[in-house]
Amino acid sequence: MSESADEVSRDDRPNPAVRRLADWDAARLESLADEYGTPLYVTDLDRVAENCARLREAFPDAEVRYAVKAHTGRAVLETVRDAGLPAECASAGEVHRALGAGFSGDEIQYTAVHPPAEDLDYVVDAWREHPDLTVTVGAADTAERLAERGFDGRLCVRVNPGVGAGHHEKVRTGANAKFGVPYDRAADLVESASEAFDLVGVHAHAGSGISGDDLENHRELVRRMGDLARDVSATGVDLEFVDVGGGFGVPYGEDEPALDLPAVAEATREAIGDIDATLAVEPGRYVVADAGVLLTRVNTVKETPETVVTGVDAGMTTLLRPALYDAYHAIRNLDGEGRETVGATVVGPICESSDVFCENRPLPRPERGDLLAVGNAGAYGYEMASTYNSRPRPAEVALGGEADGESGENAALVRRRETLTDLTEVESR
Ligand code: PLP
Repeated sequence: MSESADEVSRDDRPNPAVRRLADWDAARLESLADEYGTPLYVTDLDRVAENCARLREAFPDAEVRYAVKAHTGRAVLETVRDAGLPAECASAGEVHRALGAGFSGDEIQYTAVHPPAEDLDYVVDAWREHPDLTVTVGAADTAERLAERGFDGRLCVRVNPGVGAGHHEKVRTGANAKFGVPYDRAADLVESASEAFDLVGVHAHAGSGISGDDLENHRELVRRMGDLARDVSATGVDLEFVDVGGGFGVPYGEDEPALDLPAVAEATREAIGDIDATLAVEPGRYVVADAGVLLTRVNTVKETPETVVTGVDAGMTTLLRPALYDAYHAIRNLDGEGRETVGATVVGPICESSDVFCENRPLPRPERGDLLAVGNAGAYGYEMASTYNSRPRPAEVALGGEADGESGENAALVRRRETLTDLTEVESR
């Protein structure tokens, strides 16, 4: 079912199931840091395309949509679009980005989560121009607000299936009352909504970062969605698709096995059973996580009785996941070869005790100026960056895709580093 770290070395196969931090070319990362400064996100567009291809291969009969919230950068969106995946968007801003990146209306699903009026106004305006776009509502109330705006287009109903899954309680949505129409009311809402809208689908999302034993919860969600689809069909409503959400996990730990995607796909098809509609999935993390690293330099080294405190120029404002979810990210000292191993606590420059990337992790003894690479930073990395403590957001370079010349050595600056001036530009006094 799963593959060991040895079996998935990047050099072994053309499109391995995982790209580890150790697989990144250290010399290239060093030269990017020298050229563009740190902190710096590096995104490999070829790896994004590989991940899309692997998903499509595993789910040949399903529609694989990209949950753009994981990484909304234009270069990534264009790569995903070229790979043939439509876009699942969580806000008017994401719809705006998707349209800007060239997705057509029929390639855009907007999943409304308690949407502000401005989002509905924007999306209904966009729908008038792109009548094939689909809006997913998680409450009857949202459907009413759409109707008030004259929307009678393609509608999907998000269901709360009562079962969640994911790597942390804060990312498990499937049983959280905030999301979706309660399962036992869903069929009725679908039936009544089909009178006012072009009812095309039902949707549920278990949570994010699903792997291991948690996959059984995902299967249970899929089973429930299959049952719902059959109930809905029995009322005479024709569904075009049943979307069972995203959430496919990636191995953040260096020795963690990669998800066996073909097996997950097979289990998903089996769990949904016979439905008279297309299965849809909408992964975000899986598409971009291992396509990105964060580069950061050591500013300060402080020996303490407990640990070697290693201060770097990235912080929780650059990569929030460790502070928000206690998330593990692999860290590699690209300058540390041959040094003794010490217990290092890597911290950022933010004045918060949660601004910590790792505690007492065995790493080569750090020195001021060392370059560290933080792995699996491509999903929910730059996206969750903020300017707290008045820290400008970092730059991002893209490798591969059109960024690469024939030598494959080129990189393109796809997001410039923000400046102190950017911080105050929106203020009026
Ligand atoms: N779909 C919905 C509705 C989501 O809320 C999310 C993540 O929050 C996703 C898809 C993507 O999840 P993941 O990035 O774990 O695949």
